[in-house]
Amino acid sequence: MKNEQKAKNIRFIHTLDQIEGLPPEQKKDLAQTEQTYRFYANDYYLSLIHWNDRHDPIRRLIIPDPGELERWGDFDPSGEVTFTVMPGVEHKYPSTALLLVSNACGGICRYCFRKRVFISSQGEILKDLPAAAAYLRDHAEITNVLLTGGDPLALATGKLELILDALLPIEHIRIIRIGSKMPAFNPFRITEDPALAELIVRAQKCGKKIYIMTHFDHPRELTGEAMEAIACLRRAGADLANQTPIIAGINDDPAVLAELFRQLSFAGIAPYYIFQCRPASGNKHLAVPIETGYEIFEQACSQVSGLAKRARFVMSHITGKIEIVGLDAACVYMKYHRAAEEETSGRFFVCGRNPDAYWLDDYETFSTPHTPAKYPAYGPE
Ligand code: SF4
Repeated sequence: MKNEQKAKNIRFIHTLDQIEGLPPEQKKDLAQTEQTYRFYANDYYLSLIHWNDRHDPIRRLIIPDPGELERWGDFDPSGEVTFTVMPGVEHKYPSTALLLVSNACGGICRYCFRKRVFISSQGEILKDLPAAAAYLRDHAEITNVLLTGGDPLALATGKLELILDALLPIEHIRIIRIGSKMPAFNPFRITEDPALAELIVRAQKCGKKIYIMTHFDHPRELTGEAMEAIACLRRAGADLANQTPIIAGINDDPAVLAELFRQLSFAGIAPYYIFQCRPASGNKHLAVPIETGYEIFEQACSQVSGLAKRARFVMSHITGKIEIVGLDAACVYMKYHRAAEEETSGRFFVCGRNPDAYWLDDYETFSTPHTPAKYPAYGPE
Protein backbone atom coordinates (compact mmCIF):
# COMPACT_ATOMS: atom_id res chain seq x y z
CA MET A 1 0.00 0.00 0.00
CA LYS A 2 1.30 3.48 -0.83
CA ASN A 3 2.01 5.94 2.00
CA GLU A 4 -0.79 8.20 0.75
CA GLN A 5 -3.27 5.37 1.23
CA LYS A 6 -1.76 4.37 4.58
CA ALA A 7 -2.08 7.97 5.75
CA LYS A 8 -5.75 8.04 4.73
CA ASN A 9 -6.40 4.71 6.45
CA ILE A 10 -4.65 5.49 9.72
CA ARG A 11 -6.94 4.92 12.68
CA PHE A 12 -6.49 6.95 15.84
CA ILE A 13 -7.00 4.87 18.96
CA HIS A 14 -8.28 6.60 22.09
CA THR A 15 -9.16 3.68 24.36
CA LEU A 16 -7.65 0.30 25.12
CA ASP A 17 -11.02 -1.22 24.22
CA GLN A 18 -10.25 -0.45 20.56
CA ILE A 19 -7.10 -2.63 20.56
CA GLU A 20 -7.66 -6.09 19.17
CA GLY A 21 -4.27 -7.48 20.24
CA LEU A 22 -4.92 -6.84 23.93
CA PRO A 23 -6.83 -9.66 25.68
CA PRO A 24 -10.05 -8.61 27.52
CA GLU A 25 -8.69 -9.57 30.99
CA GLN A 26 -5.67 -7.28 30.45
CA LYS A 27 -7.97 -4.44 29.38
CA LYS A 28 -9.88 -4.96 32.64
CA ASP A 29 -6.67 -4.94 34.70
CA LEU A 30 -5.63 -1.67 33.08
CA ALA A 31 -8.95 0.17 33.48
CA GLN A 32 -7.85 2.18 36.53
CA THR A 33 -4.50 3.11 34.98
CA GLU A 34 -6.23 4.23 31.80
CA GLN A 35 -8.55 6.43 33.84
CA THR A 36 -5.65 7.99 35.78
CA TYR A 37 -3.29 8.73 32.88
CA ARG A 38 -4.52 9.20 29.35
CA PHE A 39 -3.83 6.65 26.63
CA TYR A 40 -3.62 7.56 22.96
CA ALA A 41 -2.05 5.87 19.90
CA ASN A 42 -2.73 4.95 16.29
CA ASP A 43 -2.90 1.65 14.49
CA TYR A 44 0.38 2.22 12.58
CA TYR A 45 2.36 2.54 15.83
CA LEU A 46 0.46 -0.31 17.49
CA SER A 47 1.29 -2.52 14.48
CA LEU A 48 4.95 -2.38 15.59
CA ILE A 49 4.07 -4.34 18.75
CA HIS A 50 4.76 -8.07 18.92
CA TRP A 51 1.62 -8.95 20.84
CA ASN A 52 2.79 -12.45 21.73
CA ASP A 53 5.61 -10.90 23.79
CA ARG A 54 4.21 -9.53 27.05
CA HIS A 55 7.51 -7.62 27.50
CA ASP A 56 7.65 -6.16 24.02
CA PRO A 57 9.46 -2.77 24.24
CA ILE A 58 7.04 -0.92 21.94
CA ARG A 59 4.13 -2.25 23.93
CA ARG A 60 5.81 -1.06 27.12
CA LEU A 61 6.29 2.39 25.62
CA ILE A 62 2.68 2.98 24.62
CA ILE A 63 0.36 0.60 26.53
CA PRO A 64 -0.53 1.55 30.13
CA ASP A 65 0.85 -0.56 32.97
CA PRO A 66 -0.54 -1.04 36.51
CA GLY A 67 2.89 0.14 37.79
CA GLU A 68 1.80 3.68 36.87
CA LEU A 69 -0.43 3.75 39.93
CA GLU A 70 2.55 3.57 42.30
CA ARG A 71 3.02 6.95 44.00
CA TRP A 72 6.31 8.53 42.99
CA GLY A 73 7.66 11.76 41.68
CA ASP A 74 5.47 14.68 40.69
CA PHE A 75 3.99 16.37 37.65
CA ASP A 76 6.86 18.78 37.09
CA PRO A 77 10.08 16.90 37.94
CA SER A 78 12.35 19.45 36.26
CA GLY A 79 10.71 22.44 37.95
CA GLU A 80 9.61 24.01 34.67
CA VAL A 81 7.17 26.28 36.49
CA THR A 82 10.16 28.16 37.90
CA PHE A 83 11.31 29.22 34.44
CA THR A 84 7.90 29.94 32.90
CA VAL A 85 7.84 33.61 32.02
CA MET A 86 4.30 33.56 30.61
CA PRO A 87 1.91 30.71 29.71
CA GLY A 88 3.70 28.49 27.20
CA VAL A 89 7.08 30.29 27.34
CA GLU A 90 10.03 28.95 29.36
CA HIS A 91 13.37 30.71 29.60
CA LYS A 92 15.88 28.80 31.71
CA TYR A 93 19.20 29.12 29.85
CA PRO A 94 20.07 32.55 28.40
CA SER A 95 20.42 31.46 24.77
CA THR A 96 17.39 29.16 24.61
CA ALA A 97 13.65 29.66 25.02
CA LEU A 98 10.98 26.97 24.90
CA LEU A 99 7.54 27.50 23.46
CA LEU A 100 5.00 24.88 24.54
CA VAL A 101 2.83 25.09 21.45
CA SER A 102 0.69 21.95 21.67
CA ASN A 103 -0.90 19.74 24.30
CA ALA A 104 -1.26 16.80 21.91
CA CYS A 105 1.15 14.14 20.64
CA GLY A 106 1.02 11.38 18.03
CA GLY A 107 0.74 8.97 20.99
CA ILE A 108 1.38 9.19 24.71
CA CYS A 109 4.65 7.71 25.98
CA ARG A 110 4.02 6.05 29.31
CA TYR A 111 7.16 7.61 30.81
CA CYS A 112 6.30 11.16 29.66
CA PHE A 113 7.52 13.82 32.09
CA ARG A 114 4.98 16.36 30.80
CA LYS A 115 1.92 14.18 31.15
CA ARG A 116 0.43 17.03 33.14
CA VAL A 117 -0.32 18.79 29.83
CA PHE A 118 -2.45 15.84 28.71
CA ILE A 119 -4.37 15.71 31.99
CA SER A 120 -4.92 19.43 32.33
CA SER A 121 -2.69 21.90 30.52
CA GLN A 122 -3.28 24.35 33.41
CA GLY A 123 -2.66 27.34 31.17
CA GLU A 124 0.77 26.02 30.22
CA ILE A 125 0.26 25.95 26.48
CA LEU A 126 1.09 29.06 24.47
CA LYS A 127 -1.98 31.27 24.09
CA ASP A 128 -0.67 34.74 23.37
CA LEU A 129 1.67 34.41 20.39
CA PRO A 130 2.21 38.19 19.93
CA ALA A 131 3.20 38.51 23.61
CA ALA A 132 5.57 35.54 23.30
CA ALA A 133 7.13 37.04 20.16
CA ALA A 134 7.53 40.38 21.96
CA TYR A 135 9.33 38.61 24.82
CA LEU A 136 11.67 36.87 22.38
CA ARG A 137 12.27 40.14 20.51
CA ASP A 138 13.16 41.91 23.77
CA HIS A 139 15.72 39.23 24.72
CA ALA A 140 18.55 39.53 22.23
CA GLU A 141 20.47 36.79 24.05
CA ILE A 142 17.94 34.19 22.78
CA THR A 143 19.44 32.62 19.67
CA ASN A 144 17.58 29.27 19.89
CA VAL A 145 13.87 28.61 20.21
CA LEU A 146 12.61 25.11 20.87
CA LEU A 147 9.03 24.38 19.87
CA THR A 148 7.73 21.65 22.10
CA GLY A 149 4.63 20.60 24.02
CA GLY A 150 3.22 17.96 23.42
CA ASP A 151 4.34 17.67 19.85
CA PRO A 152 4.41 20.72 17.54
CA LEU A 153 3.72 18.41 14.58
CA ALA A 154 0.41 17.47 16.20
CA LEU A 155 -0.65 20.96 15.08
CA ALA A 156 -1.95 21.50 11.58
CA THR A 157 0.80 22.94 9.38
CA GLY A 158 -1.19 26.19 9.03
CA LYS A 159 -0.99 26.70 12.81
CA LEU A 160 2.70 25.89 12.87
CA GLU A 161 3.17 28.41 10.08
CA LEU A 162 1.54 31.16 12.19
CA ILE A 163 4.02 30.41 14.96
CA LEU A 164 7.03 30.37 12.64
CA ASP A 165 5.85 33.56 10.96
CA ALA A 166 5.98 35.27 14.36
CA LEU A 167 9.58 34.06 14.89
CA LEU A 168 11.09 34.52 11.44
CA PRO A 169 11.40 38.35 11.56
CA ILE A 170 13.34 38.21 14.87
CA GLU A 171 16.92 38.51 13.70
CA HIS A 172 18.73 37.21 16.79
CA ILE A 173 16.83 33.90 16.61
CA ARG A 174 19.13 31.78 14.46
CA ILE A 175 17.93 28.27 15.28
CA ILE A 176 14.40 26.94 15.55
CA ARG A 177 14.16 23.43 16.93
CA ILE A 178 11.04 21.36 16.55
CA GLY A 179 10.88 18.58 19.14
CA SER A 180 8.82 15.73 17.68
CA LYS A 181 8.14 12.05 18.09
CA MET A 182 5.94 12.16 14.98
CA PRO A 183 8.58 10.43 12.77
CA ALA A 184 8.15 7.43 15.11
CA PHE A 185 4.45 7.70 15.98
CA ASN A 186 3.01 8.77 12.65
CA PRO A 187 5.55 9.29 9.84
CA PHE A 188 2.70 9.87 7.35
CA ARG A 189 2.04 13.19 9.10
CA ILE A 190 5.34 14.25 7.51
CA THR A 191 5.50 12.33 4.23
CA GLU A 192 1.94 13.20 3.18
CA ASP A 193 2.01 16.91 3.95
CA PRO A 194 4.12 18.76 1.35
CA ALA A 195 3.17 22.07 3.03
CA LEU A 196 5.28 21.09 6.05
CA ALA A 197 8.40 20.59 3.94
CA GLU A 198 7.68 23.88 2.15
CA LEU A 199 7.42 25.66 5.49
CA ILE A 200 10.81 24.27 6.57
CA VAL A 201 12.35 25.38 3.28
CA ARG A 202 10.84 28.87 3.64
CA ALA A 203 12.05 29.26 7.25
CA GLN A 204 15.57 28.45 6.16
CA LYS A 205 15.41 30.92 3.27
CA CYS A 206 14.68 33.49 5.99
CA GLY A 207 18.05 32.67 7.55
CA LYS A 208 16.89 30.29 10.31
CA LYS A 209 18.35 26.84 10.77
CA ILE A 210 15.67 24.26 11.44
CA TYR A 211 16.55 21.30 13.60
CA ILE A 212 14.10 18.46 14.09
CA MET A 213 14.75 16.93 17.50
CA THR A 214 13.52 13.39 16.91
CA HIS A 215 12.56 11.04 19.68
CA PHE A 216 13.34 7.48 18.71
CA ASP A 217 13.62 5.30 21.82
CA HIS A 218 14.13 1.89 20.24
CA PRO A 219 15.64 0.70 16.94
CA ARG A 220 12.34 -0.97 15.94
CA GLU A 221 10.77 2.49 15.61
CA LEU A 222 13.12 3.20 12.69
CA THR A 223 10.83 1.57 10.13
CA GLY A 224 10.86 2.12 6.37
CA GLU A 225 8.03 4.64 6.81
CA ALA A 226 9.96 6.48 9.52
CA MET A 227 13.02 6.59 7.26
CA GLU A 228 10.90 8.14 4.49
CA ALA A 229 9.77 10.84 6.93
CA ILE A 230 13.40 11.47 7.88
CA ALA A 231 14.38 11.72 4.20
CA CYS A 232 11.54 14.16 3.61
CA LEU A 233 12.68 16.43 6.45
CA ARG A 234 16.27 16.25 5.27
CA ARG A 235 15.28 17.12 1.67
CA ALA A 236 13.61 20.22 3.10
CA GLY A 237 17.02 21.15 4.55
CA ALA A 238 16.38 20.36 8.23
CA ASP A 239 19.11 18.88 10.40
CA LEU A 240 18.16 16.06 12.72
CA ALA A 241 19.26 15.08 16.20
CA ASN A 242 17.75 12.47 18.50
CA GLN A 243 17.05 12.45 22.19
CA THR A 244 15.70 9.65 24.33
CA PRO A 245 15.57 8.71 27.98
CA ILE A 246 16.92 5.37 29.21
CA ILE A 247 13.75 3.46 30.04
CA ALA A 248 13.47 0.12 31.84
CA GLY A 249 12.30 -2.63 29.52
CA ILE A 250 12.58 -0.43 26.42
CA ASN A 251 16.21 0.51 25.86
CA ASP A 252 18.03 -0.25 29.15
CA ASP A 253 20.13 -2.88 27.41
CA PRO A 254 23.55 -1.88 26.00
CA ALA A 255 22.95 -3.95 22.86
CA VAL A 256 19.60 -2.23 22.17
CA LEU A 257 20.96 1.23 22.88
CA ALA A 258 24.03 0.55 20.72
CA GLU A 259 21.78 -0.60 17.88
CA LEU A 260 19.69 2.56 18.27
CA PHE A 261 22.85 4.71 18.12
CA ARG A 262 24.06 2.78 15.08
CA GLN A 263 20.77 3.03 13.19
CA LEU A 264 20.46 6.73 13.97
CA SER A 265 23.97 7.42 12.68
CA PHE A 266 23.27 5.39 9.52
CA ALA A 267 20.16 7.53 9.01
CA GLY A 268 22.16 10.75 9.47
CA ILE A 269 20.50 11.59 12.79
CA ALA A 270 22.97 12.69 15.45
CA PRO A 271 22.42 10.95 18.81
CA TYR A 272 22.19 14.08 20.98
CA TYR A 273 20.95 13.57 24.55
CA ILE A 274 20.32 10.40 26.50
CA PHE A 275 18.24 11.50 29.45
CA GLN A 276 18.02 10.13 32.93
CA CYS A 277 14.28 9.34 33.26
CA ARG A 278 12.74 12.22 35.19
CA PRO A 279 10.88 11.16 38.34
CA ALA A 280 7.43 12.02 36.98
CA SER A 281 4.18 10.78 38.48
CA GLY A 282 3.36 7.35 37.14
CA ASN A 283 6.75 6.32 35.75
CA LYS A 284 8.57 4.65 38.66
CA HIS A 285 8.43 1.22 37.00
CA LEU A 286 10.12 2.68 33.90
CA ALA A 287 13.00 4.46 35.63
CA VAL A 288 16.54 3.10 35.79
CA PRO A 289 18.93 4.19 38.59
CA ILE A 290 21.47 6.81 37.48
CA GLU A 291 24.55 4.65 37.98
CA THR A 292 23.02 1.67 36.17
CA GLY A 293 21.97 4.00 33.35
CA TYR A 294 25.48 5.41 33.08
CA GLU A 295 26.96 1.92 32.80
CA ILE A 296 24.43 0.94 30.11
CA PHE A 297 25.22 4.15 28.24
CA GLU A 298 29.00 3.59 28.42
CA GLN A 299 28.71 -0.05 27.33
CA ALA A 300 26.53 0.98 24.40
CA CYS A 301 29.04 3.69 23.41
CA SER A 302 31.87 1.16 23.52
CA GLN A 303 30.14 -0.86 20.78
CA VAL A 304 29.68 1.91 18.20
CA SER A 305 31.65 4.31 16.01
CA GLY A 306 32.50 7.86 17.00
CA LEU A 307 29.64 9.33 14.97
CA ALA A 308 27.17 7.02 16.70
CA LYS A 309 28.32 7.97 20.20
CA ARG A 310 27.98 11.72 20.08
CA ALA A 311 25.25 11.67 22.75
CA ARG A 312 25.72 12.86 26.33
CA PHE A 313 24.02 11.19 29.28
CA VAL A 314 22.28 14.01 31.13
CA MET A 315 19.78 14.75 33.85
CA SER A 316 17.44 17.72 33.34
CA HIS A 317 17.48 18.94 36.92
CA ILE A 318 15.87 22.16 38.11
CA THR A 319 19.37 23.61 38.59
CA GLY A 320 20.52 22.76 35.06
CA LYS A 321 21.33 20.07 32.58
CA ILE A 322 23.81 17.86 34.43
CA GLU A 323 26.04 15.50 32.51
CA ILE A 324 27.03 12.27 34.25
CA VAL A 325 30.63 11.99 33.15
CA GLY A 326 32.08 9.07 35.10
CA LEU A 327 32.03 6.61 37.96
CA ASP A 328 34.59 4.90 40.14
CA ALA A 329 34.22 2.60 43.12
CA ALA A 330 33.41 5.45 45.50
CA CYS A 331 32.14 8.39 43.47
CA VAL A 332 29.97 9.64 40.62
CA TYR A 333 31.38 12.56 38.63
CA MET A 334 29.01 15.13 37.19
CA LYS A 335 29.21 18.44 35.39
CA TYR A 336 26.77 21.24 34.61
CA HIS A 337 26.42 21.08 30.84
CA ARG A 338 23.87 23.92 31.01
CA ALA A 339 23.18 25.81 34.20
CA ALA A 340 20.18 27.81 35.36
CA GLU A 341 22.53 30.15 37.23
CA GLU A 342 25.61 31.54 35.56
CA GLU A 343 27.96 30.85 38.46
CA THR A 344 27.17 27.13 38.21
CA SER A 345 27.91 26.91 34.49
CA GLY A 346 30.46 24.22 33.70
CA ARG A 347 30.82 23.33 37.39
CA PHE A 348 32.21 19.87 37.98
CA PHE A 349 31.17 18.07 41.16
CA VAL A 350 31.37 14.72 42.88
CA CYS A 351 28.77 12.62 44.69
CA GLY A 352 29.31 9.54 46.83
CA ARG A 353 28.02 6.43 45.05
CA ASN A 354 24.39 5.51 45.65
CA PRO A 355 23.21 2.67 43.40
CA ASP A 356 19.59 3.47 44.33
CA ALA A 357 19.73 7.12 43.22
CA TYR A 358 17.27 8.07 40.49
CA TRP A 359 17.77 11.83 40.67
CA LEU A 360 20.39 14.27 41.88
CA ASP A 361 18.41 14.86 45.06
CA ASP A 362 18.92 11.20 46.05
CA TYR A 363 22.65 11.81 46.55
CA GLU A 364 23.77 12.91 49.95
CA THR A 365 27.39 13.88 49.55
CA PHE A 366 28.43 16.64 47.23
CA SER A 367 31.55 18.62 46.62
CA THR A 368 29.32 21.68 46.07
CA PRO A 369 25.80 22.53 47.28
CA HIS A 370 23.32 21.89 44.47
CA THR A 371 19.75 22.77 45.31
CA PRO A 372 19.19 26.42 46.13
CA ALA A 373 16.22 26.63 48.48
CA LYS A 374 14.58 29.35 46.38
CA TYR A 375 13.30 26.87 43.79
CA PRO A 376 9.72 25.99 44.65
CA ALA A 377 8.28 22.50 44.37
CA TYR A 378 5.52 21.85 41.84
CA GLY A 379 3.23 19.12 43.09
CA PRO A 380 0.36 17.14 41.60
CA GLU A 381 -3.06 18.75 41.69
S1 SF4 B 1 6.39 12.53 22.58
FE1 SF4 B 1 7.29 13.65 24.31
S2 SF4 B 1 5.66 15.01 25.03
FE2 SF4 B 1 4.70 13.45 23.71
S3 SF4 B 1 4.07 11.85 25.11
FE3 SF4 B 1 6.09 11.28 24.39
S4 SF4 B 1 7.50 12.12 25.94
FE4 SF4 B 1 5.52 13.14 26.23
